[in-house]
Amino acid sequence: MDYAERLLAWFDINKREMPWRNTNDPYAIWVSEIMLQQTQVDTVIPYYERFIDRFPTIHSLASASLEEVYTYWQGLGYYRRAENLHKGARMIDEVYGGVFPTDSDLIKKIPGIGPYTLGAILSIAFHKPIPAVDGNVMRILARQFLIEEDVSIAKNRKIFDERVMALMPSDPNRFNQALMELGALVCTPKNPKCTACPVQTLCGGYQTGVAENYPVKSKKVNSKTLYYYVIIFKKEQSYYMVKRPEEGLLANTWGFVMLDKTVFDNIKHQLLLVKPLNTVRHVFTHLKWEMKPLLVSNRENEMPKETMDQISQGRFVTLAQMEALPIATAFKKVIEQIPNR
Ligand code: SF4
Repeated sequence: MDYAERLLAWFDINKREMPWRNTNDPYAIWVSEIMLQQTQVDTVIPYYERFIDRFPTIHSLASASLEEVYTYWQGLGYYRRAENLHKGARMIDEVYGGVFPTDSDLIKKIPGIGPYTLGAILSIAFHKPIPAVDGNVMRILARQFLIEEDVSIAKNRKIFDERVMALMPSDPNRFNQALMELGALVCTPKNPKCTACPVQTLCGGYQTGVAENYPVKSKKVNSKTLYYYVIIFKKEQSYYMVKRPEEGLLANTWGFVMLDKTVFDNIKHQLLLVKPLNTVRHVFTHLKWEMKPLLVSNRENEMPKETMDQISQGRFVTLAQMEALPIATAFKKVIEQIPNR
């Protein structure tokens, strides 16, 4: 048996049940792939089912408000994904009459669809022989073929795409899914289960005992830390939350007023401090935030003018009302500390 035959035979027996595996609908596959970015399969399943139940078609998603879409995303995080899905659905609805395009150049123009998602949709929904290379697939191939090129360098993706194409059988749908499944279940980042691996005898890394030295990944450069004071204005049982800008980190999600040290030092005498909360640290891909939250009791009309550009984007909400807002984890860690919950 060749590589693909071994892998597919293994996949047929070992694949996990996932609701999106029972459909060829490109919309449903698109939704599942976007949800699966940065999120585990088990977490995604109930979200996917609720989402598809409420928005069964591209048109139904396009017709909904972004606020409503966010409520179905609440808890999955990385809200930019939901925003792009919504934008993409509106684009497909308006430009292509609600029918998902089949042409790769058109699919690429849909917001939030990168090379991996493009390959996944084209191969799974349309059975086109296109690679769908994510971190899992790169790891398997790097170990298998002892690929020395750094997987964190974008241009090296081409090397992995070419490897997949060289192995691609006549069933790209199952083959791409089988590779992903092998990466998730067997060829795991730590302690790969080589003895259970269907392609072990073809694996250079296993045969030479160096599998875990791959993939080659450059060391992360130390990311910069930004320091903020997080000002939580309290009025009775409500707290002032602000909608973050449309661009940049945590775009369009809700948080609190954030001030850097210079601005904070200028206005701190104007704040009526109720309680300092514990410092929260949050790590982004290339950046860290160190946030010092302060609960203060200024009323809206007494808020320092230096905070006004942020204040104009916000409103007082109760803890219960916060449940319905898209709030990123960085701020959830702050909210968890608000007393009298
Ligand atoms: Fe990965 Fe081991 Fe299989 Fe090689 S033999 S592909 S290292 S699980």
